[in-house]
Amino acid sequence: MSEKMNIGVDLGGTTTKMALIDDAGKTIDKWAIVTNTIDNGSHIAADISESIKKKLKQYNLGSSEVRGIGMGAPGFIDMASGFVYKAVNIGWEDYPLKEELEKFTGLPAIIENDANMAALGEMWLGAGRGAKNLICVTLGTGVGGGIIIDGDIVHGVSGMAGEIGHITVVPKGGSPCNCGKKGCLETVSSATGIRRMGLDALDYNDSDSILRDLFEKNGDISAEDVFNCAAKGDQLSVAVAEKAAYYLGYALGAISIVVNPEKIVIGGGVSHAGKTLTDPLTKYFKEFSLPRVFDACKIDIAQLSNDAGVVGGAWLAKTKINN
Ligand SMILES: [Zn+2]
Repeated sequence: MSEKMNIGVDLGGTTTKMALIDDAGKTIDKWAIVTNTIDNGSHIAADISESIKKKLKQYNLGSSEVRGIGMGAPGFIDMASGFVYKAVNIGWEDYPLKEELEKFTGLPAIIENDANMAALGEMWLGAGRGAKNLICVTLGTGVGGGIIIDGDIVHGVSGMAGEIGHITVVPKGGSPCNCGKKGCLETVSSATGIRRMGLDALDYNDSDSILRDLFEKNGDISAEDVFNCAAKGDQLSVAVAEKAAYYLGYALGAISIVVNPEKIVIGGGVSHAGKTLTDPLTKYFKEFSLPRVFDACKIDIAQLSNDAGVVGGAWLAKTKINN
């Protein structure tokens, strides 16, 4: 192992994923521990540090062979200080994450928002490989985003840049969003939003639909059901999928005119819909973008799945920690 090692950490509400990745991008090991959120998350940094120290010992790696730790956390983060202002799922409020990690491990650490971290991972070793100007969107329970310009994440003055999910796309009569606004992209293009629009469509429409058959059989539907039925040509489901793609295409069209990206990477559970999502999305993206912007940009499905965060963390350690 002649390359230097980097540690990527991806903190989630239930599990924390970690990986040991060398400078060339080769994963030496990856593992996960349970995220212990009791006592307002006060054990988390120590648990992670213990696990890292054990792993480094296992591979006989001293601190001189390791650059440091790149860690992604949910919530609002100040990059410079490594301070987590608020991470509701974890229980942290004004938590000095960087300082704690460095104290427990003796290694330098760098902290980033988890959606940004996933974007960096896709840029380094995933669907964005080779691109330096990218928009990454994660369509899960919510809608996360990361915007990379010239190889670096855009943070903005208070760390809020790239919060794509909270762009207002339904200015009148939109559904309430977790952020307190109404009609955010998250309310229509997340898995949660697509399920809700599917249920609404079943309510307002009594046409025959295999989505309705599923609803009657299971008592509920998911975003995945909507896309599966749409792929089979179910008209009601096609209309819901189109609607989700329309709003996403609208938002991405607008952002792409600002950023002029080479690639848009779509990740998260909803991205498993593949062409059922990307075909209508490409159509609307073209409509709301500009010809030269559209022609320069490719829409791709994310490739790293759950590993994007730890890969992005390792990339941050490799590129931002100078030792
Ligand atoms: Zn919102």
